[in-house]
Amino acid sequence: MSFPKIFNELVTSLARFPGIGRRSAERIAFYILKMSPEDVRDLAHKIEEIHNHIKPCKLCNNFSTHEVCSICSDYKRDKEIVCIIEEPKDILAIEKTSQYNGLYYVLLGSVSPLEGVNGEDLNIRKLINRIEQGEIKEIIISTDADNDGELTAQYLIEKISPYKIKMYRIAIGVPLGTQIEYIDSATLGKALLEKRPV
Ligand SMILES: [Zn+2]
Repeated sequence: MSFPKIFNELVTSLARFPGIGRRSAERIAFYILKMSPEDVRDLAHKIEEIHNHIKPCKLCNNFSTHEVCSICSDYKRDKEIVCIIEEPKDILAIEKTSQYNGLYYVLLGSVSPLEGVNGEDLNIRKLINRIEQGEIKEIIISTDADNDGELTAQYLIEKISPYKIKMYRIAIGVPLGTQIEYIDSATLGKALLEKRPV
């Protein structure tokens, strides 16, 4: 037997989520079928709400419900230090270490030859503008310790080094190939403290 077409279409959509295979997508779809109409409406509404109200911060690209995110607008943070990361979720990982009190700049991606993404595809114009205006004195490059992250770091070093500001690479030594979001807080905190000049 086969399930109705609309059921299969939902499964196909759900299977596009990161880490969700076809089997898990089917389980979620069955679960949705068993939910009450109110709960389904509430879920659909919440999905729409985050899409409508959460936008990239105009300064750093972090997710925000305001034009400027809560980190960029926090007067207690050191605005002369900027940590560059690949994705907004990396901010959560670094914040958990309690070892960092500067600002962030989210690339919203990384250089990836396999996916055809070049350095020029990353939008670093907003960051470069702030460097040119003398607002930033120190950069910490905290891209992932995998191949794409390293290529991204190389691109950033190439673009930022002409400005003669202090530049560091987070000291993620071993294991290579690690993504920031999966590193435990203690190790990531240590990697921040032991950042090396580039
Ligand atoms: Zn921001």
